Amino acid sequence: MTDNEWTKILGWPGYRVYRSEINEANKTLCLWVRRKRGNRKLVCSGCGRRVREIVETYEREVRDLPCFEYRTTVVIELCRVCCPDCGIKGEKVEQWPSKAPFSKRFEEAVGQACENAAGRRVAQQFGLAASTVRAIDLRYLGRWAKGRRKPALRHMGVDEIYLGKKHKFLTVVTNLETGEPLWFGRERKKETLDEFFRTQLSSFQRSAIQAACVDMWEPFRQSLEQWVPNCRIVYDKFHILQHAGAAMDETRRAEFFRKGGAGREIIRGKRWLLLSSWVHLNRQKKRQLNELFALNRRVLKAYLLKESLSRLWDYTYEGAMMRYLESWIDQLRWQRLKPMEKLARMLVKHLDGILNYSRTKVPLGVVEAVNGNIKALLRRGRGYSNLNYLLLKAQRLAVTKTQFLVFRKAA
Ligand SMILES: [Zn+2]
Repeated sequence: MTDNEWTKILGWPGYRVYRSEINEANKTLCLWVRRKRGNRKLVCSGCGRRVREIVETYEREVRDLPCFEYRTTVVIELCRVCCPDCGIKGEKVEQWPSKAPFSKRFEEAVGQACENAAGRRVAQQFGLAASTVRAIDLRYLGRWAKGRRKPALRHMGVDEIYLGKKHKFLTVVTNLETGEPLWFGRERKKETLDEFFRTQLSSFQRSAIQAACVDMWEPFRQSLEQWVPNCRIVYDKFHILQHAGAAMDETRRAEFFRKGGAGREIIRGKRWLLLSSWVHLNRQKKRQLNELFALNRRVLKAYLLKESLSRLWDYTYEGAMMRYLESWIDQLRWQRLKPMEKLARMLVKHLDGILNYSRTKVPLGVVEAVNGNIKALLRRGRGYSNLNYLLLKAQRLAVTKTQFLVFRKAA
């Protein structure tokens, strides 16, 4: 094959092959390239401005896509340039975007593979170390993020994810309209959310935020009040039902300890059943619960209250929501369900934010879905001690929707 033919096959704009070597035993192909005679545009890798003065030339080996069964290496002849701003620097080459020994399209192939498979699998496929694959993927996602326009933030979601004993909480800010996570912060203090407003948004962008979906968590409310005073705080269904689930669980535990012997046996192991919603249970599981309810009226009552609370968001008008909540609280009377009474007090205290749902329609279930996606990512890979990587990965998932988890619709 002539150099000219190799130049065509390689297809690096502005570069020509001047030497090639095939090793049949090792199944490797090596191509030496330098700039074509007409290609005089030199760009400083430090600042990106055009430069003229060449100090010296040098060579770099980069791995490119394989040619059939041959692993391909390209040896590029590069110029060291003298930039008026940065001094002596390497030139910037389109096909070789980072200092790592891989071509741009090779990194793209690895990054794309990472979208559908775990890092370990991709490492195997390309014969790379897992840490190298992560670094390539991070650069690939970084280039993607840099080149895109981000939609305006009008409805924001703030949620926290529990990462475990060591790292505790991660605060997640989401664009509810696009379902895309925007920012991660360590812990869940007021300062955490303050940092988002301070570092990520201009005052104009902050003023565009109309509503925020949050948990009934005082530090977040304080931060919102300070930075986006005109934004409506909506306490969303997902978080309130989480609290209802917790109250259900507390009731179950209290009953377990109150009852002795046989009474305990029937409650034992029913935790997940009691937290599930009735419509999602099969016939056998419904029967199990009915057996429990026949013997323990308090657990039954708590379960019914938990189930009926979710219907609050079926109402579109403030007055109707209000009436439904009042009758829900009325049912608590004489029941001696301490955890549920505590929940009711919490709801009354945050009433305005709950009713705000009728004033500003924010999409329900988005916070939950984004939350689920991030947890799935965390379960799948272990390389996310780098929060920026986790964020880019979650954003890419949300935009391409390759793995967006479909959540069952609340009944
Ligand atoms: Zn420069």
